[in-house]
Amino acid sequence: MGRPKKAQPAIEKPPAKLPGTLDLVVEQHRTWDFFLHKLFELAQTFGYQRVDCSLVEDARLFKPWEQAGGELVVFADTKGTRLAVKPLNLFGLARMYLDYRFFEKEKSSKWCYVSPIAFIRNGQIMQSHEFGFQVFGETSPIVDAQMINMLLKLFTELELKNVSLEINNIGCLECLPAYQEVLRGFYKEKKYDLCEQCLEDLERNPVNILACANLSCSTVSTEAPVLIDYLCENCRKHFIKVLEGLDELSIPYNLNQKVIGKPWSRKTVFEIRSSTEKGEVVLGQGCHADDLLQSMAGPIVQALGFSATIEAILSAFEEAEVRVNQQHKADVYLVPLGDLAAKKTLKLFSELWSNNIVASEFIGPGSIKTQLKLAESNKVSIALIIGQKEARDGTVILRDVRSGMQELFEASRIIEEVKKRLGK
Ligand SMILES: [Zn+2]
Ligand SMILES: [Zn+2]
Repeated sequence: MGRPKKAQPAIEKPPAKLPGTLDLVVEQHRTWDFFLHKLFELAQTFGYQRVDCSLVEDARLFKPWEQAGGELVVFADTKGTRLAVKPLNLFGLARMYLDYRFFEKEKSSKWCYVSPIAFIRNGQIMQSHEFGFQVFGETSPIVDAQMINMLLKLFTELELKNVSLEINNIGCLECLPAYQEVLRGFYKEKKYDLCEQCLEDLERNPVNILACANLSCSTVSTEAPVLIDYLCENCRKHFIKVLEGLDELSIPYNLNQKVIGKPWSRKTVFEIRSSTEKGEVVLGQGCHADDLLQSMAGPIVQALGFSATIEAILSAFEEAEVRVNQQHKADVYLVPLGDLAAKKTLKLFSELWSNNIVASEFIGPGSIKTQLKLAESNKVSIALIIGQKEARDGTVILRDVRSGMQELFEASRIIEEVKKRLGK
């Protein structure tokens, strides 16, 4: 036997996480799982079915994203078709809705989803998980109010602090273009006070200027014409009914002109925020996208959705100092001492499992004292200890963790004894 061969490293130093990519280490994943559990529970109560759309699509699907200045992660297949990773779920969901002809099957499709997304920002890949709720089909103002109601329930039940609702109506193809003209005229007079980005938006989409955080721009915007005064009859009625629905549910809201949604947003646009002394987190945004399916050569179908990313949720949990407890609950704690004992517990573990008894396994270094302490801190009442002698004799020590009382049992009898003590 010679010395074990050393592997030659393929790279010079240990690889690091790429900027913009996403790792979820244990703590973060525990929080994320806890959140998703609540999310799906509530979704079911409110009649939303879980779906997921493909990670990769024909890049043409994301044209509105690119037109709005977004960059895609693109590549070509062997035939040269331009493909892209989805930068958000909405377009893929719309494609799926059309592809499976849901519009022929049901009046309204209510979906919830969680799925990875990726896009490019400043030349760097940005990876995330996006979750949300999407309705295609009939969306009366009541549906808007009910979706907001569900979301506020979700976030307050998670103990996030000062959850608030900012709401606006961004109009439709009928009324928005006229308002944009009015707004363009207004900002043209003040163009020397606008930042570079807003000057670009002045021609393309002056509504964006309303949301600019730059001090000089936002000062100008305080005097800007208000969209609500320019809404068409349809949009105005819709908005009033949404607000009446919120009043009915006793949901407070702030009318906020700075909440403008995305270029494909129509009618109701809203943001849900959470704040602590440390700052404010925008948890996510919702809007109608009533022209989207038509723009994809589909039928006239209304769309209402809310979406948010994992980053917003994790940072809101952190700011609100919400701690998620370890979910795993064991019935018994296995304490093997030495190699032979460790081997014996392998079998015992699976026998316990077959009898519906969850064992927490501790195979590793550490004295019996630290192992028993762990059992106690995890509120496990029974520890099964196998030392070298017990491993050889085919016996197991059963210890009542709280009282410290110990008894020796034949290995063949231990399952029955544990069941008796656990009342199973
Ligand atoms: Zn309108
Ligand atoms: Zn600006």
